[in-house]
Amino acid sequence: MAEFHLLIADWYRQNHRELPWRDTKNPYFIWLSEIIMQQTRIEQGLNYYLKFTNAYPTIQNLANASEQDVLNNWQGLGYYSRARNLHFSAKFVVNELNGKFPATYNEIMQLKGVGTYTAAAVASFAYNERCAVVDGNVYRFLSRLFDIATPIDSTQGKKEFQLLADELIKKADPGTHNQAMMEMGSLICSPKPDCEACPVQVHCLALKNKTISERPIKSKKTKVRDRYFHYLVHSFDGKTIITKRTEKGIWQNMYQFPLIETESAETPRTISNEISFSSEVQKHILSHQRIFAVFHHIDNAPKTLDSDHLEINKVEIQDYPLPRIIDRYLEDTANQ
Ligand code: SF4
Repeated sequence: MAEFHLLIADWYRQNHRELPWRDTKNPYFIWLSEIIMQQTRIEQGLNYYLKFTNAYPTIQNLANASEQDVLNNWQGLGYYSRARNLHFSAKFVVNELNGKFPATYNEIMQLKGVGTYTAAAVASFAYNERCAVVDGNVYRFLSRLFDIATPIDSTQGKKEFQLLADELIKKADPGTHNQAMMEMGSLICSPKPDCEACPVQVHCLALKNKTISERPIKSKKTKVRDRYFHYLVHSFDGKTIITKRTEKGIWQNMYQFPLIETESAETPRTISNEISFSSEVQKHILSHQRIFAVFHHIDNAPKTLDSDHLEINKVEIQDYPLPRIIDRYLEDTANQ
């Protein structure tokens, strides 16, 4: 398939979506966009990208911001460890690398929160380094094009797809080629592919072998853990109580109402006679966890205040970084 890279580069030039991080060679902006776009839809990610580049136009600005400020700007995007890693890496670049963003794939890999995919994307887009990106879109596209049945989440599969992608980028312009591969997987060879519009349709083995719907193959299913959260929403004199999540895991360093976690959805007996009413169960799905949350209203101040609890005016709650589930609850109750 000698002309493969030319076919998809041509297609890309004519069909790609205009996005601000595609018009820049600034590695900081490109890195920011890549971290924001992980697990995020383009429309949503775009707003956050604009928010971040506006709030922190340079890596120095990001490094000098407080963690709370960064988390506040990240609020609603989920997977908060990404925001913390961004902040940590910005400080690392400013303090340890004299503010100069690393310029090669291997150096970019040293940044916290950066894996092979992100390093390849930044190195190829910003510096035109010849390293092939393999993200979910590229896996799907390649697995169909070459009709590959090796599971994409196996060690062997990862190796095989990377080798194939490395081979395809050899003669291409690296930045454009990687963008084109990802855009093809996203717009044309999507879960429901538009084969009619595909510029490499004549080469597609899955189309020929009628295996499109079976590609790509995954070996394991992610185990999902169910968790039951009972939030205590105290109301007294226009005030409420919040607390910071300090433990490792989801939503670290964000704020929440005092929380009791239980093994089932049942309301814990210790609080049942204090509750004036409870919200409906709200379901919140994360990659490895399903959270069932209930917000219990208590029209009193707690009898004693734990040392990590903060008494705040209710209206001030939005000044704190909040998990999306609490944010959504506040939106819902404000609309009632
Ligand atoms: Fe994907 Fe269809 Fe193109 Fe094959 S022909 S690569 S399945 S879009």
